[in-house]
This record gives sequence, structure tokens and C-alpha cells, in this order.
Amino acid sequence: MKAVQYVEFGKPVEVREIPAPQPGPGQVLLKVTAAGVCHSDIFVMSQPPGTFGSDAPLTLGHEGAGTVAALGDGVTGFEIGDAVVVYGPWGCGSCHACAQGKENYCTRAEELGIRPPGLGAPGALADYVLVDDARHLVPIGDLDPIQTVPLTDAGLTPYHAIKRSLDKLYAGSTAVVLGVGGLGHIGVQLIRALSTAQVIALDVSDDKLELARKSGAHLAIKSDDKAADIVREATNGLGAQVVLDFAGVQPTVDLAVACAGVESDLTIVGIGGGVLPVGFGRVPYECSVSTPYWGSRSELIELIDLARHGAVSAHVEKYALTDAPDVYDRLHHGRINGRAVLIPG
Ligand code: NAD
Ligand code: ZN
Ligand code: ZN
Repeated sequence: MKAVQYVEFGKPVEVREIPAPQPGPGQVLLKVTAAGVCHSDIFVMSQPPGTFGSDAPLTLGHEGAGTVAALGDGVTGFEIGDAVVVYGPWGCGSCHACAQGKENYCTRAEELGIRPPGLGAPGALADYVLVDDARHLVPIGDLDPIQTVPLTDAGLTPYHAIKRSLDKLYAGSTAVVLGVGGLGHIGVQLIRALSTAQVIALDVSDDKLELARKSGAHLAIKSDDKAADIVREATNGLGAQVVLDFAGVQPTVDLAVACAGVESDLTIVGIGGGVLPVGFGRVPYECSVSTPYWGSRSELIELIDLARHGAVSAHVEKYALTDAPDVYDRLHHGRINGRAVLIPG
């Protein structure tokens, strides 16, 4: 089968021919119907081989959708041909966090060598992907897998980040979204679907700002040295109650704190390496700073239901699996609008 692999440190991904896997006991083999391309992969490929627990070559792709192609011994509840998406942050399934469905915060994953697909385990940018346990599958029925696959990360991560702040998203409050890429544009849709808050979105290019408006932002503005003043003006001088940074680079982290109000939630989702000094006088009074990772199993189920009701719809650029090297290059240079989804041939 074909697989998109990170082969050599600092080099572009390669589309390689590798043997298709077979499901062992408890595992499920999916024929991939669609797989999303996340900016985190670029971070992964900037780390020395081995950082993610497996040596290169590593099959990328932590957003996967597919149909059940084979069931390992003992798997029940699924039939061949069922359409599903994959919950990516695999955990042990039995620690305190996993028992609540929060496998993204599994306390034993590291010790047990459990890695998410595409971030250590072989990922979904391939003709087939092996899923370690049927509990990591969420049925999607007749939803379009290409439209739905970004929800497994570009949707789930903002959904989790926004849920922690729902009590601050009341009528008359403001949410600022920094970075309207794969995660950010779904983040804007989710705030609109879940709250009555005013949404102000910021990015660096006109096409991203256009996507922000289409996604429901009340105001979409350039992320520059005037932006914080515009946000203050749009919030009667108070600043925003919720600030979500979906880039996490130093300029957005600096802007995030400049936009935040008293008793706000400032949530850094992007892993761009930006640093926020926290201390008395450095952030607004009672500002709560958080760096969440991905989301829980039940949150993915909720999100698929939201998609079924039409409340969230990813803006997708479709490509063939074999286009992967070009797609990563485009993503790196900010030339993907919404989420790039690769489709095996
Ligand atoms: P993306 O490339 O699709 O989107 C990033 C957006 O940020 C782009 O639209 C870009 O133009 C914008 N941006 C860059 N610099 C900016 C600036 N100075 N001001 C305003 N906007 C700016 O990436 P993505 O796949 O949506 O991922 C976003 C970030 O979130 C990445 O850092 C990724 O690694 C990270 N991520 C984190 C988690 C988590 O669990 N915390 C999960 C998935 C992705
Ligand atoms: Zn990701
Ligand atoms: Zn666990």
C-alpha cells in the first residue's frame, strides 16, 4: 500500500510503498477514505527522529476516516464496511483519566509506549490504517468522510478548548480567535454554535480573514500592531473574556495577552513556541492561562453529532494522497485555506 512517511530529518515527506498491516486481536483495520494534514506534523518533522517514540520512517496522519476492512479476533460492535473516524489520542483505556474518556491525558501512555496514530504509531496518511482498539472508532454513518475527518483534531482540539470557557461566553462577551487556519476556522464556527459571544478573528492574510467571516466571525482583522487597539475598541475598552491562540507563535501570544480582559481565559492551543510570562501585573487580574492538548472521546462523539445537525462544517481543500509533499510545503508557507484533506487513490 501507499503511505506518506517522514523518512529523514529536515527532508520533505515521501510517498512510499509498504506492506499493508493485518489486525491483531482487538484491533481494527480501516481502509482510509480521507486523512487530514495538521500543522503539528511540521513540528514533528522538525524534531530529531526518535522523539515520538518510534524511529523514522513514520507514517504520518493523525486525522483519519475510513471503512472497516478487517476485524481482529474478539472485536465486536462493528461490521465490515462501517464508516468511522478515528479518535487519535490513544491511551491505556483504564487509568483515571481514560476512565473518563480523557485519553488525551492518559497517565500511563508514556510508560506503556502508547502513541497516537501518525505521532508515533503508523498514521492514516496511507491506504490502510490499523486502529489499536474498537473504542477509538466513532461511527459517522452517511456523513461525508472528507468533510468530517478534520473534526478529529482541527475540530476536537478547539471544541475541548472552548468548552472550558463556555461560562465566559455570555451575551455581550467577546472571544478573540488568533490564527484562522485548520483549527481556528472551526474554532470560530464552534463559538458561534455554542454561544452568543461576539467573535473577533485575527490572521495575517486576506484569504484567511475571508474564511473567518464565512465561518461566522463578527469582525475579522489583520494581526498587526494595531490589532490590540481595535479589539479594545470593540470591547468598550475591557478586552476579551476569552482569547484562543491557534498559532502559538510569539507575536500571537503577545497579542493574546494584549487582548485579554480581567477574569478572562487565555488559551494557547498552537505549538509555535511562543512564551507568555505569567505573574502579578504580567497578565490581567484573574486571567486563567491554559495549554490544552486535543480532546476527550466523548467530546469527539458530541462533535460528530454537531456536524450531523449542520452546526459545524470544515472548509476543506481536497488533494490526492500522492500530493502530500506539495501539501506540506503549501501548509508550511501558509498557502492552505481551512484544512487540507488527502484522499487515497
Ligand atoms: P494552520 O497552519 O492551518 O493554521 C495556523 C494559522 O495561524 C494560519 O492561518 C496562519 O496564517 C496563522 N498565523 C500565523 N502567524 C500568525 C500571526 N502572527 N497572527 C495571526 N495568525 C497567524 O495550522 P493548524 O493545523 O490549524 O494548527 C494550528 C496550531 O495548533 C499549530 O501550532 C499546531 O501544531 C497546533 N495544534 C495543537 C494541538 C493541541 O492539541 N494543542 C492540536 C492540533 C494542532
Ligand atoms: Zn494535529
Ligand atoms: Zn490511561
